[in-house]
This record gives sequence, structure tokens and C-alpha cells, in this order.
Amino acid sequence: MDPLLEFTLVLALLALIECAHWITRQSAAFQKCWRRYAVREGESLFGNERAGFAFAWPLPPFGALWVFEAPPFHAGETRVLGLSSGRALEWHQLGAVSAEERRLMIGGAVFAECSSARAALEWQAWLAKRAGESQAHRRAAREELAEELCQPERLRSVCARMLPQRVRLVPLIWIEFALLFGGLPLTEWLVGLSRGWPWLLGALVGVHALVVWSWARAHRELFASRVQERRMKLLGLSLSPPAALRALDALSRDALPRLEPLAAASFLLERAEFVDYARRRWREHAHPKPVGLQPETSEWLALLVPAMERLLDRAGLPLSELAAAPLRLEEDVMSYCPRCERQYTHASGNCEACSGVPLVAYARAEEAVPGADSPASSRGAS
Ligand SMILES: [Zn+2]
Repeated sequence: MDPLLEFTLVLALLALIECAHWITRQSAAFQKCWRRYAVREGESLFGNERAGFAFAWPLPPFGALWVFEAPPFHAGETRVLGLSSGRALEWHQLGAVSAEERRLMIGGAVFAECSSARAALEWQAWLAKRAGESQAHRRAAREELAEELCQPERLRSVCARMLPQRVRLVPLIWIEFALLFGGLPLTEWLVGLSRGWPWLLGALVGVHALVVWSWARAHRELFASRVQERRMKLLGLSLSPPAALRALDALSRDALPRLEPLAAASFLLERAEFVDYARRRWREHAHPKPVGLQPETSEWLALLVPAMERLLDRAGLPLSELAAAPLRLEEDVMSYCPRCERQYTHASGNCEACSGVPLVAYARAEEAVPGADSPASSRGAS
């Protein structure tokens, strides 16, 4: 193979690797291509049982990939359940929690896995603080967290701060991309590589240095106190031009607030996509699968689901609409699953697809009308 082509392929492969984000199952990635965002749910991604890969768009305009992560644990009344490990620990034990890269560790073993090192640091600080509090304070902090996770306004203010930095970085990244993938063949064709390579190398080094410097300046303006983190990331960006092509992701990964993906969706998705996603995510939380359901999960959902419902109400999706019975697909349909909306020809029983979620009977024909307020489909049915 032509060495020039070989070199370009290696660069392309490295750039593609930089586009892959490893995100946990409870997270969602919002991927932008041109002007629209699409949601990739953690549950649906290719990977292992704890996490999967989400891919950012690799070509200009380098659409953003923003990851929003629900807490990697369920904070119950007396214990906390680590989602990736399945370990449930007493609150006082969490005083010893530490963050190692993307993991929360206790006693040398993984307690929970996060989607980023920054998320691990934030959750570690939150858990360690709660561990030393009284039960009443802890309860208030859990309620506050549930409310905070459902506030899309926090994302709006971060976007307003990030936008000017992004505008400065984007043209430089485009130029570096053009030089990396178009510079070699163009130089070969115009003047020959033997004569042109010093010019090409000089241009590439110059633009790369500008990207790295602009990124460092943007990071300093957004997070003045995170000096150590900035140095580590700067080193990675400086040594790898393909990594510099994803400099915007490296910036947003640190800047995005912790938010329930539903709250991010209300801000980022188009209306029809938001309604579809919101209904699905709300149903999954309001009607958890009973098999293997831990008390910590029930206790956390008892705080989170009302906060989600308040968010959806503010976004123009009232509970009556969310909980409405789905349109009957056939005449002989007698019941439906309130979690996945699968329909059944018997009036009672459990949903086969949702590990035993109790079915809700269609009591009257008018309940089949979409948008109708259905008391039978309320959360109590699960
Ligand atoms: Zn179901």
C-alpha cells in the first residue's frame, strides 16, 4: 500500500477512536449533527452490561456529543445501591468512598462506575458529604438532588457560557482537520512531498498549537480553579492531533451540569422527539420492573419520579397525558402494560416483556382514546 495512504488511514483510525465515548447504561448521549440533536440511550448502546459506546460525528462540523448521567447509584433512606456493582452499603460506610478515574471505590472494590472522571469526582464529594449527615439532613439533600437533576435551566446557563468559547475553537479545528487529511495529498500533487513537507509540517504544528492554546484558554475561563485537571488534559491534546479534533467534546464533558437525561432532552430535542423520549423514560421510572427491585431503588424513585413529573408538567406534558392509556390496537385487547405499552387480550396478569409489571385493564372503551385521563393507568398500578 502507498505509505501516504497508509499514514492517512492510521490518522483516520485514531480520529475515529477519539469519537467513541464509553458511557454507562443509566446515561444518555445527545448527539448533534448539523442543527439537530438525537438521543442515544445508554441501554441501547453496544458494549458490556455496565456501559456502551456512543459515537460522535467524525467529520466537520464535528457535531457535539453531550453525555448526561443519572446518578450511578440509588440513594435510599438507610443504604445506597451502586448500580454497576450491585453493592448496597450503609450511609456511614460511604465516608470512605474515593474516585479513581471513572470509578467510585470503597474498600479497594468498585462501588459504581461513571461516564467520566469529572462525574466520579462530583459524585464522590456528594456521597462523602452525605455520609456524615443526620438522617433528616440526608433526606433533604436527596430531595434537593432529585429536584436539581430535573432543572434544564442549569444547562441553558452553561450553554450561554460555553458558546463564545466554541465559536473561537471551531474554525481552528476545521483547519487542522483539512491539513491532517487533505494536506499530504495536496502537497504531493502541487509541489511533491520532498519539497513541500517542511511547509506542511510547519502549518500543522502552528495550527495544532493554536487549537491547544485556545482550548486551554477556554478551559481556564470556564473553570479557573481546575488547574491539575487542565494540565493532564492539555498533555493529551498536545501529543495527539486526532484528539485535538475533539477539543470541543473535551471542553463540554467538564462543563455540563449533572442532569437527569430527561431534563437535557427537554432543552435539546425537537418537540416530537422529546415527547416520545419523555413518555418512555417516565414510564420506565414510574413502573420499574419488580423482579430484583431493591428497596434503595424504590426509595430513590419515590423522590425522583415526582421531580420528573414536575419537570414534564412545566414542559407542557402533564401527568394526565403521560399516564393516559395507549390507543387500543385491536378490538379484543383487554389490557396493556403501563411500562412498555404492550397490549394483551387478557384483562389481568403481568407483562412478559417487563419481568412481571402488572397489566392495567382497559375498563371502558373511551379509555382507549389517546390523551384521555385514565385513573387505571396511574403509577399506583405498578
Ligand atoms: Zn411491559
